[in-house]
This record gives sequence, C-alpha cells and structure tokens, in this order.
Amino acid sequence: MNPSHVLVLNSGSSSLKYQLLDMARARPGSGSAAGRLTSGIVERIGEGPVADHAAALKQVSEELDRQGLGLDSPKLAAVGHRVVHGGTRFTEPTLITDEVVAEMEKLVPLAPLHNPANLAGIAVARQLRPDLPQVAVFDTAFHATMPEAAARYAVDIETADRFGVRRYGFHGTSHAYVSRATARLLDKEPSEVNTIVLHLGNGASASAVRGGVCVDTSMGLTPLEGLVMGTRSGDLDPAAIFHLARVGGMSIDEIDTLLNKRSGLLGLCGDNDMREIGRRMAEGDPAARLAFDIYVHRLRKYVGAYTAVLGRVDAIAFTAGVGENSAAVREAALRGLDALGIEVDAVSNAIRGATARLISASSSRVAVAVVPTDEELEIATQTYALVTG
Ligand code: AMP
Repeated sequence: MNPSHVLVLNSGSSSLKYQLLDMARARPGSGSAAGRLTSGIVERIGEGPVADHAAALKQVSEELDRQGLGLDSPKLAAVGHRVVHGGTRFTEPTLITDEVVAEMEKLVPLAPLHNPANLAGIAVARQLRPDLPQVAVFDTAFHATMPEAAARYAVDIETADRFGVRRYGFHGTSHAYVSRATARLLDKEPSEVNTIVLHLGNGASASAVRGGVCVDTSMGLTPLEGLVMGTRSGDLDPAAIFHLARVGGMSIDEIDTLLNKRSGLLGLCGDNDMREIGRRMAEGDPAARLAFDIYVHRLRKYVGAYTAVLGRVDAIAFTAGVGENSAAVREAALRGLDALGIEVDAVSNAIRGATARLISASSSRVAVAVVPTDEELEIATQTYALVTG
C-alpha cells in the first residue's frame, strides 16, 4: 500500500500544533474527522522542559510513536508545513529544498514574528526525516491571484516595490477551503460561484472570491489590516501612528504592540472572546456593546465593498470561531441588507451545528452559509496532491 498519511505542522513562536491525517480516508467536505488520526499541541516553547522547536517536535514524535504512528512510520507520505508569508515568490504549495529554505529566509522581514517560527519547525522536521518529502503551504498563496488594482497601495511605486509594500493577504488556506466548500454546499463548481468569505476567528479577514479565484482580501502587508479582530485594530488611518509617535511619545515597537496585541475587541472593552462580550451585552454593559457595534459596522462595510467588487454575489460564507458560532454577529452583520438580496433566516441562523449549512431565507437571492473551516485538512490535501501529483 502506498503511504497515505500526512503530518501537518503549524509552528508558532511559542507553540507547535500538529495533526496527522490519512488522506486515503479524508474526504473533502466530510470534515477532517473522517481522516484525522490524531492531533495536539505543544505549548510554551522556550520555557521549562520545552527549550526550543527541536524539543517540541521531539515531544510530538514521541507522542506519535506511542500511538504507533511515529515519524518513521512507512505510512507517512509527507509533512505539510503552514508558512505564514510567501511574499510574491511563493504562490503555490512548494516542495521544501535547501534553496527554498534560503528563499524563505529572505522573507523573514515581511513576517518577523511568524516566519522564523515556521522555519524552525521546518528545520527540525527535515533533520528528523531528511528523506521525507516536506511541503510548505503558504497563508498568502490563495491571494496571489488578486489583480494589481486590489493588491497595490497608492504609495510611491518605487518605494513600495523596493520594500515589498503591497497587499498579500492571509488565512489563504481557510479562504480557499471555505470558498470551495461553499460551492459544494450549493451543488456547484467553484468556477460557477462568487463568494464573500468572512473568516472571523481571533484573527479575522474577509475575501472576495470570483469563480474560485481570490480577487480581493482585507488583510494586507501584514495581518493587521481590515476587520476588527480579537486584539488587532484592523483598518486605521496610518497617520494615527505618526500622531502616537509625535504627540504620544510612543516608540514604533510600542505602537506595533498596541495595534496588534492591545487593540481590537480587547482594547475596546477588555475582552477578546465574543462569548464573554455577548454575556456582558446581555447584562447591559455599554463597553461590550460598543465593541460589538464597531466590530459589526466594519464587517458590514466589507460586505458592501466586496459586493461592489464582485458585482454578482452568489454566497456569503461565515467561518472560524466567531463566524461558525456567533448567530448574533451573523445576524447583525447582514441585518437589513434585503436591498442587496441578502436575507438571513432567523431560525436557521440560531441552530448550532458542526457541518456546513445554509442560514439564508428561501427568498434570499444570495445564499448565506456557515461553513466550518479546516486549515489542516486543506494543508494536508495540498501537500498530498503535490507529493503524489
Ligand atoms: P479561532 O481563532 O477561529 O479559534 O476563533 C477564536 C474565537 O472564536 C474566540 O476568541 C471567540 O471569540 C470565538 N468563539 C468561539 N466559540 C464561540 C461561541 N460559541 N460564540 C461566540 N464566539 C465564539
């Protein structure tokens, strides 16, 4: 039997998430449950017993060994690595070689927090199994199809090009997976469907997908731009940064931390969990209410903007922690948009579920869907396709 297992590694600065899938059993749309063999996370890398990424992967490998699924298992076909930033260089899943690693190292300035951790995970996995195909799947790749009009900022073009300042977009594996799953839910080919995907997790981004191809997305040079997020501000007048530096006396690093870690829902009301915000709103807490309203207002603006970008919208898909679970956010984001052909059915919206489902009214011209994302399955699928290709 051909090896059909794929180990997906998502290596962050202080954690290593892993999932082992059997691609002979994983089915698109079935949810990865069908092919998921095991998964887990090693946290607090850099502290105590988990000194570094090598120690973390050793821990994963020992755990897999205990389950008889170790890194040296003959069933293992490949390792798929999530890599945050592919720049303009990597727009496809890529078989990792020394040359590819060298190119990825050049991209570190674009994602100084994320890419070094991804590279550390790649390095230790290659040391453990140098013979095994390992594939990098980039969070930016799905957005590489954006036209220049959407991808470029109106900044002096030579300066922008010199420093790589443009819109790259992130959460690409999720937007790719969810836009395809939405087409399947509608019994259509991805090429037949125009979809607005709203990935609302702790990080949040929207994308406009025309016939399966991404034409715009809300995150930009970094994941800071766009929607209001758990701890990130999203869109902001860039002059606020000059103001905070000149008038507030803050350093660039302090402003970076403020906008990425202490803003968004957390900065507005002290909580970044939408469940907690919902509870506080029910008690009449005005700060929680304001945070929710700002979050939803921004979301509605993007729905309107991407409706105009696409011209014809067939579906709006909600995904990730907030998108999959918060009926209140979905309802508020699309309330009163009948003029755009968008009508949410209150009863279907309120029903919880773990599978892709429609929540639009039967009279709605635009299908509104809740589609659980599965980035690990998407990374495994792309990895397996490349190595068996
Ligand atoms: P993710 O980044 O996709 O894991 O999403 C995490 C976020 O989803 C959390 O910070 C919560 O705000 C949100 N979330 C998770 N479960 C629920 C729920 N039942 N209702 C509302 N929000 C939720």
